[in-house]
Amino acid sequence: MNNKTRLSFTTFLSLCFIAFPILLTFTLIHHNSFIFQPFPNIIDKHQHRISQHPPPTPTTTTTSSHIIGTKNHSFANQENDSHVSSTTIANHKFLDGLLPSTFDEGSGSCLSRYHSYLYRKPSPHKPTAYFISKLRNYEHLHTLCGPHTHSYNKIMTKDAKFTKNDASTKCKYLVWTASNGLGNRMLTLAAVFLYAILTDRVLLVKFGDDMLGLFCEPFPHSSWLLPRDFPYWKDRKHIQTYENVLMKHGGNNSKELLPSFLILNLQHTHDGHNNFFHCDYSQELLHKVPVLILSSDQYFVPSLFMIPSFRQDLSKMFPEKDTVFHHIGRYLFHPSNEAWELITKFHETHFAKANERIGVQIRVFNTHKAPHQTIINEIIACSVKHKLLPELDLQKPAEAASVLKNQTSKAVLVASLFSEYGDKLRALYLRNTTVTNEVVRVYQPSHEERQKSSNGMHNIKAWTEIYLLSLCDSLITSRKSTFGYVAQSLGGLKPLILQRAFGETIPNPPCQRARSMEPCFHYPPKYDCSRSNTTVDFTSLFHDMMHCEDVSSGLRMVNIKH
Ligand code: GDP
Repeated sequence: MNNKTRLSFTTFLSLCFIAFPILLTFTLIHHNSFIFQPFPNIIDKHQHRISQHPPPTPTTTTTSSHIIGTKNHSFANQENDSHVSSTTIANHKFLDGLLPSTFDEGSGSCLSRYHSYLYRKPSPHKPTAYFISKLRNYEHLHTLCGPHTHSYNKIMTKDAKFTKNDASTKCKYLVWTASNGLGNRMLTLAAVFLYAILTDRVLLVKFGDDMLGLFCEPFPHSSWLLPRDFPYWKDRKHIQTYENVLMKHGGNNSKELLPSFLILNLQHTHDGHNNFFHCDYSQELLHKVPVLILSSDQYFVPSLFMIPSFRQDLSKMFPEKDTVFHHIGRYLFHPSNEAWELITKFHETHFAKANERIGVQIRVFNTHKAPHQTIINEIIACSVKHKLLPELDLQKPAEAASVLKNQTSKAVLVASLFSEYGDKLRALYLRNTTVTNEVVRVYQPSHEERQKSSNGMHNIKAWTEIYLLSLCDSLITSRKSTFGYVAQSLGGLKPLILQRAFGETIPNPPCQRARSMEPCFHYPPKYDCSRSNTTVDFTSLFHDMMHCEDVSSGLRMVNIKH
């Protein structure tokens, strides 16, 4: 080996020394990014189990674009774009930090929690870091105090009696009980959860068999279900009502001991506009009671914003005031596997290939019932006016489906208790061509004929339809319906609300755009807390509240642009 050869050999060795670690690092990164792919369920240890009910596998083929659909947004379409990073996907999957990452995804016990992002567009409304930190703190508290924890057992086994010291315990409870239909129940659950966050209480829900099959557990490591041995159900003699307590203790320094359990009835039929829950002095009192049992059918979130001691915290959590249910609903309500199967089946069969999805929710309250045909005409007038559906071309006969197969298509989901609406709308678009030649297909998943809220399967169907409506690109809803409110808020949509129709006259205008996606609080309080016996219109005190388009005495939170 001459000097020159030795030199080049040394150079070669040095190059190897430099190149090898670089090559190794590159290989590892590449390998990790493969393992760290956005759909870990596909390769995780539970692959076999999950593949028995495969989610629509997001791949780089056209199938993925079918998952959400083809119109304007499609997150799945973004996945086809190699620039969408795994961080973006993880953000979307965990709803921008709303969802905790501490659940055991591999258990397969709640598929919707991990797959819903494949069906839903990313929300343009991001939760604040402050609200996210509140959620993580709440989860921690729930783990510490949840059912059958040491603290829970300690409090609940004292023959349902609390001592004075217990009132300052770190584990205080807020028990939710059901009333009315599913929409009402979901609205109050969200409001009660927010109240629990604000007051550092642990939310426990009293679900009967009619609700047990609807949702996944929302909090990691601990259940939200009220244990059946909860002392309240055994022994009611220590329980007082909020009105009694307020009467005895309100405004003066009563020496009487506060009860350990207190029933807080905020149902509209009980006290309606007349309660004082929105006053700070009520909250001071309630704060001292270890277990509150709350029953309500109202979305009382605006009341929470009226309470001076909560308002600042709430504004920090929700600077966009119309996103309260949108974030809380997405955090809390994950369809059970049974409901999820119905949702995904419907989606894949009817929604996935449509260019646009339009939800029509028709809730007919018995009073003022207009004929089916009037309501159909009203829906058509509304959807044509707002360009959701094309006009019918009554001159031209319907084209055979095979001729229209390459036309753009709209899928219309009709949610109603009555089959007539879906049938009539479907027939109309099957028998006629549209002026734009677009194909309109109408689907109605169920027609239960009447409300049966104590029936589990009936509620699963209702939940499935609420969820499917929330996946639509636009919504037409019915006045005063909490069923519609849940769908619009989950979907982040401002719906067109049908006006009340009388007889055969189609109202003019047929529908009105909601100003906010927040649900309406139908029976808000009317008393001014600072002046006894004086009523007040709270919209004059709070600019982020307005009267609802569909219930003039109701209140809705709205987003104020600064
Ligand atoms: P609201 O009465 O319209 O405010 O809504 P709720 O959800 O509180 O109560 C109505 C109940 O009737 C629902 O929970 C369902 O049980 C049933 N219901 C009403 N409309 C529909 C519908 O379009 N589809 C289904 N499956 N059930 C419905």
